[in-house]
Amino acid sequence: MLQIKTFVFNPFCENTYVVFDETKECVLIDPGCSSPFEVEQLSRFIDENELKINMIINTHGHIDHIVGNPPMVQKYGAKVAAGTEAKFDFTKAQQQSRLLGFPSNKVVEVPDIELQEGEIIEVGNSTLEVIATPGHALGSVSLYAELEGLVFTGDALFCRSIGRTDLPGGNYAELCRNIKEKLFRLPDDTTVYCGHGETTTIGDERDFNLYVNG
Ligand SMILES: [Zn+2]
Repeated sequence: MLQIKTFVFNPFCENTYVVFDETKECVLIDPGCSSPFEVEQLSRFIDENELKINMIINTHGHIDHIVGNPPMVQKYGAKVAAGTEAKFDFTKAQQQSRLLGFPSNKVVEVPDIELQEGEIIEVGNSTLEVIATPGHALGSVSLYAELEGLVFTGDALFCRSIGRTDLPGGNYAELCRNIKEKLFRLPDDTTVYCGHGETTTIGDERDFNLYVNG
C-alpha cells in the first residue's frame, strides 16, 4: 500500500508529496523545496526512511512545483517526468524564478521523461496512472492510485476551488471539462491530494465545488 508524506514548501505553500510503499521505492511528486532548510527537511525524510527514489514527477511546470528538482536530481540521480507540453513552462522557469525571487543560481531541468495519458507508473507494489488534466497549465497531469483510492491533482482541482486559468497556457473551459470528464469519474471516496491546501474527496468536490459546477 502506498504511504504519503506531505511537505508544504516555498512562499506559495506548495504541497510536495513523497509517495512510497513497503518496498521503500518512492516517487517525489512536485518537489517544491526552495531553501537549503527545505531541501534538508525533504532529504532527511528520504534518508531516514531509506527510500529509493524511482522518479520525480511534476504535475506541471510552474516554478513552485519544480524548484526543488535540481537539488533532488543532484542528490539522488532521479529522472524527472512530466506531461509532454509541460516543457513550455519548464523553459520559462529560470525567468519565473528571477521574477519571484527564487534562488537564481539553480538550473531547472527540462523533463527527461514525457508522460502519456493512461501510462502506468510503478511504485514498488503499487501503481499510479497518468490522467491528462490540462487547463491550469500546459501538459498538466493527475496521478491516480486505484488500489489506494487516491489521486494527486496538482493545481487542476483544489478543495472547493480549481487552479487559476489566467496564466499562459491556461483555459477555463478545458480545465472544467477535464475535471468533470476525467476526475469526477473516479469513485466518490477517492481522496484528492491537491497542489496547494488541504485534501478533499472526489464526491465532495462533485457535490460542492462551485467553480466546476457553477
Ligand atoms: Zn500551478
